[in-house]
Amino acid sequence: MTDETDLNRAARALSRARAALVLTGAGISAESGIPTFRGAGGLWEGFRAEELATPQAFAADPARVWRWYRWRQAQYGECEPNPGHAVIAQMEGAYERFLLATQNVDGLHHRAGNREMVELHGTITRTRCSRCQRLADWPEPIEEGEDPVPRCGSCEGLMRPHILWFGERYWTGTLERAYEFAHEADVCLVVGTSAQVWAPAQMALLAQQQGAFLIDVNPGATDISFSADVHLMGPAGELLPELWERAKRSPQDP
Ligand code: NAD
Ligand code: ZN
Repeated sequence: MTDETDLNRAARALSRARAALVLTGAGISAESGIPTFRGAGGLWEGFRAEELATPQAFAADPARVWRWYRWRQAQYGECEPNPGHAVIAQMEGAYERFLLATQNVDGLHHRAGNREMVELHGTITRTRCSRCQRLADWPEPIEEGEDPVPRCGSCEGLMRPHILWFGERYWTGTLERAYEFAHEADVCLVVGTSAQVWAPAQMALLAQQQGAFLIDVNPGATDISFSADVHLMGPAGELLPELWERAKRSPQDP
């Protein structure tokens, strides 16, 4: 469990910072009831995410991929942001410069109030035409037996979730914005990411190399937690409120 000294060191770094970068992964939403991909409960009808969230799976069977995403989107709709999301939303209002880069597609950060945000892997609230790239809102639920694959209003192409799939390239602009911010951040708070996805892990280490104090909040150990200045070991929904309370009380001057 996390000790007092680590919490206080992290709180002090947060309170002294002017520019804060927050990176989140599936773990921030675990306490909202959304399973992480690699944790228990990450399976659907015996399939792993890596077998469904790919362009190949969509080309082979778009209806199956859509049934899975419709199921996930319905699950997310029943979940609420947790106290960890709430702290990150408060942080946005507390810093002169702030950026949240999330790998999550569940939309919970947006619902918690964050706007200065890049959704590196897209969002389950939007769809995109696989032919003409037009963006649209998430489709309405369907009845049993109806075709689950929505069509594009302009070109009749198959719509797909506006989500970055395994093997796809990051969209121009999203990664760049986060990397740019990593150069100026004084503090980088990483929450609930296993660091198996290279881009966010690199971003955290780059921020640290450029002078940011690196805090990792994760009940498990990852490549990021090994390098972090402080690893707070425990659930984000409990640790972030505690950390943020201490940061607000912490003296701001050296
Ligand atoms: P991951 O599943 O690989 O790792 C989750 C990490 O969260 C683990 O290191 C785990 O120890 C940690 N964790 C578990 N419970 C936690 C808690 N209560 N507080 C803090 N940390 C906790 O997730 P990832 O690194 O985000 O990578 C998986 C990929 O899957 C990402 O691309 C992401 O987009 C996607 N994904 C998204 C969602 C979502 O939108 N909520 C859910 C599952 C997967
Ligand atoms: Zn189209």
